[in-house]
Amino acid sequence: MSDTPITPEIVAIPRTVSDGATNLVGKTRDEMGEMLVAAGLPQKQARMRVGQIWQWIYQKGVRDFAQMTNLSKAYREDLAAHFTVSVPEVVTKQVSDDGTRKYLVRIEGGHEVEIVYIPETNRGTLCVSSQVGCTLNCSFCHTGTQTLVRNLTAAEIVGQIMVARDDLGEWPEPGRNPNVEARLLSNVVLMGMGEPLYNFDAVRDAMNIAMDCEGISLSRRRITLSTSGVVPEIARAADEIGCLLAVSFHATTDEVRDKLVPINKKWNIQTLLQTLREYPRLSNSERITFEYVMLKDVNDSDDDARRLIRLIKGIPAKINLIPFNEWPGSPYQRSDANRIKAFSEIIFNAGYASPIRKPRGEDIMAACGQLKSATERARRVRRTPDAQTPDPQ
Ligand code: SAH
Ligand code: SF4
Repeated sequence: MSDTPITPEIVAIPRTVSDGATNLVGKTRDEMGEMLVAAGLPQKQARMRVGQIWQWIYQKGVRDFAQMTNLSKAYREDLAAHFTVSVPEVVTKQVSDDGTRKYLVRIEGGHEVEIVYIPETNRGTLCVSSQVGCTLNCSFCHTGTQTLVRNLTAAEIVGQIMVARDDLGEWPEPGRNPNVEARLLSNVVLMGMGEPLYNFDAVRDAMNIAMDCEGISLSRRRITLSTSGVVPEIARAADEIGCLLAVSFHATTDEVRDKLVPINKKWNIQTLLQTLREYPRLSNSERITFEYVMLKDVNDSDDDARRLIRLIKGIPAKINLIPFNEWPGSPYQRSDANRIKAFSEIIFNAGYASPIRKPRGEDIMAACGQLKSATERARRVRRTPDAQTPDPQ
């Protein structure tokens, strides 16, 4: 991390917001090729031009066609007349004492989503949102109390990675090749707002750009998609995206899981586990992550830990224990630290990695499940004429 934390100052960074039909960001190779041909490019040049434009956009961070110097000047002008290269507008950026960065970005329609960047010793993870709100209403999740406003487009999803790279200063100097080895943004987790498998096509297209060697060039093993358990889409995710999978498991009986993760009423624990057993490429090096939020006296007993081990038997797995992050009005409490430790030890002794996730960015409300509140707070500030905090616009 090169920057010194600047808590709790809010920095406004102006950007263009446009995700309309002419935006080249987020388009698959085929889609972009068709757009270029429709704008007059000879069909036989489409493949090569798409590759060149992808490299400018995703490897070099260029947004202005005039800078795409391996295209003729006339063609650059032609592109500028027809298309844009647009990413979400960063409204505010906050940096936590622990270096976590949270961006509030605005997308078409004036909606807002949050992106969180978490620096660690050997890597930096970007937590990306897939929807504004969520159709599901897991009872411990703040996002779940907000109804779905809309799905994000592929441009808005891959655009989140691009704005974070802008802020991290992670585009190569002009004329230099991108260094994919030592990246500040080395991993992506689809663990922000929304259920990624209920926005399948856009998430797939965006992640395929993130993984493409002419795109953002992240290995598929550095991308993790987290789902609450949308069973029919899980196999499709393996085929069409091929990234790592995390599952919000959170309970060891259907009775409790029905309450915590209501999608369980549709696809219960056995059905979900069966699907996970069939998830292709499962091996010890590509384990499924079971996310398990630790809720005091709800799902945190020794019996739960033992039941969990029995349930996942045979699945190469890692269990991420997430201390519950409280939000205003939340109906649960975080399990005591000793309880979480005891739970973790039972799982660890059965042969599974069971790390306890360290809440990051709590001082800026960037931790798991807290994302909605900050947006609402920002909205309230902007709505209140006599608010002390300056309007970031
Ligand atoms: N919708 C997807 C991904 C977004 S949620 C899913 O449910 O998997 C990302 C992770 O944060 C999930 O494991 C979710 O269960 C967890 N989470 C949600 N609210 C939380 C809270 N208040 N405290 C801790 N973890 C929470
Ligand atoms: Fe939606 Fe995931 Fe929150 Fe459940 S935990 S409400 S699926 S974002």
